[in-house]
Amino acid sequence: MSEKIIIFDTTLRDGEQSPGASMNTEEKIQIALALERLGVDVMEAGFAASSNGDFEAINKIAQIVKNSSVCSLARCVENDIIQAAKALEPAEKKRIHTFIATSPIHMEFKLKKSPDEVLKTAVKNVKLAKSLCDDVEFSCEDALRSDISFLKEMADAVYEAGASTLNLPDTVGYRIPQEMYEFFKIMSEYTKGKLILSAHNHNDLGLATANTLAAILGGARQIEVTLNGLGERAGNSALEEAVMAIKTRKDAFSNFYTQINTKEIYPSSKLLSNIIGVWPQPNKAIVGKNAFTHESGIHQDGVLKHPETYEIMKASDIGLVQDNLILGKHSGRAAFKDKLKILGFNLNDEELNRAFNDFKELCDKKKEVFDDDLIAIISAESVKIEEKFKLINLQVSDCTQALASAAISLECDNEIIKEAAIGDGVIDAIFKVIDRASKVNGFLQDYKVNAVSKGKDALAQVSVKVSFEGQKAIIGNGLDLDTMQASAKAYLAALNSYISMNK
Ligand SMILES: [Zn+2]
Repeated sequence: MSEKIIIFDTTLRDGEQSPGASMNTEEKIQIALALERLGVDVMEAGFAASSNGDFEAINKIAQIVKNSSVCSLARCVENDIIQAAKALEPAEKKRIHTFIATSPIHMEFKLKKSPDEVLKTAVKNVKLAKSLCDDVEFSCEDALRSDISFLKEMADAVYEAGASTLNLPDTVGYRIPQEMYEFFKIMSEYTKGKLILSAHNHNDLGLATANTLAAILGGARQIEVTLNGLGERAGNSALEEAVMAIKTRKDAFSNFYTQINTKEIYPSSKLLSNIIGVWPQPNKAIVGKNAFTHESGIHQDGVLKHPETYEIMKASDIGLVQDNLILGKHSGRAAFKDKLKILGFNLNDEELNRAFNDFKELCDKKKEVFDDDLIAIISAESVKIEEKFKLINLQVSDCTQALASAAISLECDNEIIKEAAIGDGVIDAIFKVIDRASKVNGFLQDYKVNAVSKGKDALAQVSVKVSFEGQKAIIGNGLDLDTMQASAKAYLAALNSYISMNK
């Protein structure tokens, strides 16, 4: 009989820890809903005790998500576990994931605890977690550099204490697939199905997914993954890679299946990129821009004659409807709604109205509207947070010999604020005028422009990373046919996010 591989997604925890990927609560909710549509079994929504923002996001996600189990990370510390349980309170299905390091190097230098003390701390906290939540996962941090006899002792102890899943992470991304397979084989033979064994691999050597697949063959029945392979340093094992490998190589994984709705992979990946302003490298497996593009004439000819000559997967299997020209000026609301459904969006009436207006506005300015344009509009629309400052008008002038200038009018609390500023270049002038009008000072750390689809009249998607008043940097995205307008929108989005987080 075929066995299910449990998909534990940690985009919102391990993924969010990666540089430049921080999200506000509204954005996390959008990702959580996308993960639910994907059909992940468990989503790690954050680390409740780490900040008020994380606590609030987990709590909101716990209220909204119904079909996936919602999980919070917690160190083996009493307060962490209590905070996790509190944040998860409203969830229909929930899990506490607690961890402590078990490798000699971590125990000696980081924890300054003997193996015996570590074992006792783990047992005490797993018991506490179990008293607050039925489903407890325990992780031996840096398991793949831990002593195997100590891991076996730990497995017995946490099982007795109430854990049902034992996660054995390759925290530093050091292992190769053969070792991973053997490691999981030893541990699964030892635990004999009492505990669900879980793999959590990092990509420091580019082996995260290969190791995850090897772990499954060795006995892991849960894999911890992220969308786009987001995560600490070189990232985590990518959800889309592991899932599509299991699906595509049914012969090698004949005993296994996942319950992921693979048609949601592409829309979810896009949504994440749009929110954090970080796109996968073009040659990234499955979701990279080039993953389904054939450049060489011989390949193109082959694919046209028979797709399987050069394609092992269908783009439509991951929900990628390739660049087909679709809606235009004369498309009605019903066609628009249908198209959004195909792209994986389920909007309520109000969101649909707003999106339809944005679409019509775009049709007035842009001849061809591609799927990517629609995805960008909807993503920008769906993550809109409360706007303290609203852009009413922006005018810029750029004289090559003199300084550039920008004049802006913003709406704030039903009043119109007008300001002007000069800067070194137009973008500098735009950001300065916003600082002046809002009386909040921002420091720009990163600025990126991306063309959403093809053609000279493509929508510009600007992503900025700004630190306001010396606080942690925030990402803002702006979408417009005009790059200057998109830049102002992006900066204002970051500013409004900052204000909503610090109310
Ligand atoms: Zn990790």
